Amino acid sequence: VKIGVDAGGTLIKLAYTYNQGESISFKTFPALQPEEVVKWIQAFDDEAEIGITGGKASLLQSMLGRPSLGMVEFEATCNGVRYLLRQSGVTEEAHILTNVGTGTSIHYFDQSGQKRLGGTGVGGGTLMGLSQVLTGITDYHELIQLAAAGDRDRIDLKVKHIYQGAEPPIPGDLTASNFGRVFALAATDTLSKEELLASVVGLVGETVATASVLAATPYDSASIIFVGSSFIQNDLLKEVVEGYTRLRGATPLFIENGEYSGAIGALLSL
Ligand code: ADP
Repeated sequence: VKIGVDAGGTLIKLAYTYNQGESISFKTFPALQPEEVVKWIQAFDDEAEIGITGGKASLLQSMLGRPSLGMVEFEATCNGVRYLLRQSGVTEEAHILTNVGTGTSIHYFDQSGQKRLGGTGVGGGTLMGLSQVLTGITDYHELIQLAAAGDRDRIDLKVKHIYQGAEPPIPGDLTASNFGRVFALAATDTLSKEELLASVVGLVGETVATASVLAATPYDSASIIFVGSSFIQNDLLKEVVEGYTRLRGATPLFIENGEYSGAIGALLSL
């Protein structure tokens, strides 16, 4: 067996295959339980080949106590994305890649290599942290389900709210200020958890989309590829990112199993 591991800040992602060329299987563990990953890997015999990437790679390597190949995270992610693009028949050669993990990292890559363009601390960790502060909820699936039922209208200030019927110089549906409409609420108004969580998803999604479109501006690339576990079962975040990226004139692309791109890259390096 060959196992690629992407040990991130929140989740440890694994991609593994029993025979070269056979389909790849996937598995995820919480980053707070690296010993579970070690146990899972150690259940394989000594023939198992292991490639590890991500911020917690060295920690995991030392816990494993058997040889493993370390790989630079950004290289692994881009190699994994190249593989997934080939699988899905995408043929363009140059791309902007935005990885929305605990934080967000933005890259340019083509056949010859990759370059990190920048990033933002607003990412999946912000979604978790801000949601917890605002509602007390810590469970990821509960949070995203409630968010999907929420309406941002009383919380977020749109450009058209400011222009009130006059013709705005930029699209009226752009958010002028995330959470910027709260001041207009009456003292007696209370916001529901659903509204608050939908607005947190809005803040994260719009920030990520905006940073990506700005980073992409100097590049002649067909699309912006969005990956990362923050999109897992989170259709609302996908919708926000997709809509906002289009509103700003670029083309978003989501790829199946994109959250495993780092693990796939680590696997392919073996
Ligand atoms: P990292 O590599 O930094 O761990 P990921 O790409 O794994 O980042 O994304 C982590 C984010 O994915 C979390 O911040 C959260 O928003 C989201 N997420 C998806 N599934 C889960 C889960 N089961 N538990 C916690 N967070 C999850």
